[in-house]
Order: sequence, then C-alpha cells, then structure tokens
Amino acid sequence: MRKTLQEKMFHEMEQKDIFRQAQNYAFDYADHVLERNVYPTPDAIADLDMFVEKLPQSMGNAAEILEQLNQYGTPASVAHTGGRYFGFVNGGVIPASLAVRWLSDFWDQNTALYVISPVASKLEEVSESWLRELLGLPGKVVAGFVSGSSLAIFCGLAAARYRIFQNNNWDINKKGFCGAPKVRVVAGRQAHGTVVKAIALLGFGIDNIEWAETDAQGRIIPSEVPELDESTILILQAGNVSSGAFDSFDELCEKANKAHAWVHIDGAFGLWAAASVLLNHLTKGMEKADSFSVDGHKTLNTPYDSGIVLCNDKEALTNALHASGSYIAYSENRDGMLYTPEMSRRARAIELWAALKYLGKEGVDELVSGLHQRAVQIGQELKAENFQILNDVVFNQVLVACDSDKITVQTMRHIQESGECWVGGASWDGKAVIRVSVCSWATTEGDITRSVNAFVTARNKAVHELRNT
Ligand SMILES: *Cc1c(COP(=O)(O)O)cnc(C)c1O
Repeated sequence: MRKTLQEKMFHEMEQKDIFRQAQNYAFDYADHVLERNVYPTPDAIADLDMFVEKLPQSMGNAAEILEQLNQYGTPASVAHTGGRYFGFVNGGVIPASLAVRWLSDFWDQNTALYVISPVASKLEEVSESWLRELLGLPGKVVAGFVSGSSLAIFCGLAAARYRIFQNNNWDINKKGFCGAPKVRVVAGRQAHGTVVKAIALLGFGIDNIEWAETDAQGRIIPSEVPELDESTILILQAGNVSSGAFDSFDELCEKANKAHAWVHIDGAFGLWAAASVLLNHLTKGMEKADSFSVDGHKTLNTPYDSGIVLCNDKEALTNALHASGSYIAYSENRDGMLYTPEMSRRARAIELWAALKYLGKEGVDELVSGLHQRAVQIGQELKAENFQILNDVVFNQVLVACDSDKITVQTMRHIQESGECWVGGASWDGKAVIRVSVCSWATTEGDITRSVNAFVTARNKAVHELRNT
C-alpha cells in the first residue's frame, strides 16, 4: 500500500540510510578534495543542466535525490576546502567546526529568542565574550551573529546612524530622513563594495560619501581625512581586499575620538590579525573604535555563513536593529534577535564557538600567522620566478603581475584552467593583477610550491600564445 508522506519521513528518520549515504559521499569528497582539480572541469559545469527539469508532480525518493546531487553536484563544486584555492577571500573549514555543524543540523535551532533555543543563546553569549578577549576589545562590546560582513557592516553603520541622530534629538527610526539633521560619512577611497552598499541601504547616499585619499597600499592617508565632528561616521579598514593593508587605527581612532565621531572598522578577514602575536601590530589602537565587522567564514575557517558585528554601544545597536520598541524587552538571558536585523536565524554561533574552543588562543594565533607565512612564501617564490609582487605582503593577500596586462590576464586564465590552483583577477593602480589570497588552514608549503609551478607553466603558455598572434 502507498505510504503517506508522514509515514515515509518517519521511516527515513528511523532508518537513517539517507544520512549514511550522505556521510559516505561526504567522506569520499574529503578523501579526494586535496588532490582533485581545484575548479570544476567544463564538462562538470555542462552537466549541471541535469538539474534543470520540471518541478516534480509527485513525491520523490530521498536516496535518488542524494545520488543525483552527488553525481552532478560534487564534481561541479569548487574545492574551497583543499589547499590550493586562492580566489577572492574564502576560508577553508575547520574539521571540529564542521562536525559540530552536523550535530547541530539535527537540532535545527532558531536563535531569535532565549526561549526558542537556550543552547544557541548560551553559545552566542560565550562566543561573544571569547571574541572580546581574543580581539582585545572592551568589556561592554556586544556581538550580533549574522550571515557575513556585508550584513555586519550594515549593522555597525545602522548603530552609528541611530546614535548620531539620537545625540541630535532625532529618532531616525520614527522620523526617517525627511527634515533630519545632517550626518556625514567619511570612507577611504579603497573601501570595500559592501561598505558602499551599506551606505546606500541606510539612506546616506553614495554621492554624499566624503572620500579620504589612500596611499599606494590602499591605506587612508591620515592627513587626507577631512575634519571630523560629532555627526561624522568614519569607516576604516582592517585588511584591504586586494593588498591586505590596514589603516592606521591608532592615529585615526584617536583623532575621531577627540572629535566625538563614530568609527566603524571593516575587518572582514583582517580583524583576526589582533589575535596573532606576529601580526597584532597591524591592529594597534583598533579597540578605540565604536563598531567592527568581521567574518568567521574567511580567516577563522568556520563553515559558511558566519559574520559578526561587534559594537561597544549596545543601546545603539539594539535600537537600530529593532525599530519597534516593544521588542526591546531584554529578558534576563541573551535574546539573539536584538543584535541582528533578522528574527529567525540559524544557530551559526555554534560553529564559531566550536572553532574558538578547538583552536584556543594559541591555535587562532597559529592559524592566522600561518596564512601570513604561506602568503609571504608564495610572494617570495613568485618573485624568484620573475613575477612582480605589487603589494607589501603584510597579511594574507598577494598581488601578482607579469610583464604586461595581456600576459597577466592570459596567465590567470591558464592557471584557472589548469585545475592546479585557482586565483582571481583585479586591477590595482590601473594595472591588471592576479590576486592570491591564502585563507585555508589546509594550505601547505608544498601547495604553495606546486601553485608557483602552475603560475610558471601558465605564463610560458601565455607568452608563447601572445608571441604567435
Ligand atoms: C569579504 C569582505 C566583505 C564582505 O564580506 P561577506 O562576508 O562576503 O559579506 C567586506 N569587506 C571586506 C574587506 C571583505 O574582504
């Protein structure tokens, strides 16, 4: 007799065969990811069309669904969790953090309120205090756990907006911008695109940004920062997305504090420098800022998605994110939704907690310093092969160029096609560059050397082709 939907699903939960099947595929993936082609082959990408079909009319078979996903999805995935993916700024994944995610997936917790998930609330609270300690932030700093830096930046700037207007007796939540006093926004020329997006979303207007000029590394030149006052938001950067450079927090925060301006630091991947003895000179003075945004899923290597807003003005953050006053009813325990724009949210702090507990202070230091050392290594080895390195490798980012833009672009394409490693492109100072971002704990010295060989082979091919055209 035909089973009902409910009977089928009870059966699946009881038998657990589909979870074993998923586990087998996942373990097989882990066994091959270090050696497989880093980017999917053109055939694997073409096969993705196997997913294009009509919405099924009737109930499916879970085992067959998993099988299809493994057959066509696995080969088309990008090997982020291996050691030779250097594109964008993407992290790998810490095994303990991943394992904890599997367990908590079965819990399916919602972190909106303490009462909905006491365990998620507690682990957010613990993670918040550990983050303060690790990053050297003041005791009153609170954290909101969001999807990534895009949203964390938005939240930090929303808190700034709330506070500055409030200081002018203007409740922005109720009154909006019509007739509002002026709030100024100052950002470096090299501010990340997500900073600009947050400024637009918050209604400040991109055309109203007062840009501070930057130096050859992309750092704000302190003398180029316009006069600050109590109605200004100054946005700084810990880790330029191309060069990895850090603004001079000590000097700029000091200046902003004196003027009673609000400082937000976009530290998506770079804020973690504060947790490395070797690198914490880069973030000196950052604790004087008012809000911060940082990712778990980049440098810290938690699974996606994981971003954190940190703010030393709890009232501003919680009021900014919850326009309706009735929500601002603090329970005795942590209610996660007060610190984020969302109400329902997955319990991503569980993986963050696991990563921090597993690594400890020493482990975070070793991870962050290790990424830097591998970045320095690839810079040196590429230089020895006559590639140009265009930035000071202060963190994990390396900007590479060949003798001409044409050769650079063609070389990058051949590297990508080789499957040996994956790097993306950008333009830096008007020049085409290859961007190398060392972000995974899994990258070894051997991976670096193997990748440098792929660069050399790709450049030979590019030079040869361009000579023959
Ligand atoms: C990646 C990045 C962002 C955006 O972070 P997401 O987690 O992708 O939303 C913002 N700023 C900088 C400097 C980044 O590197």
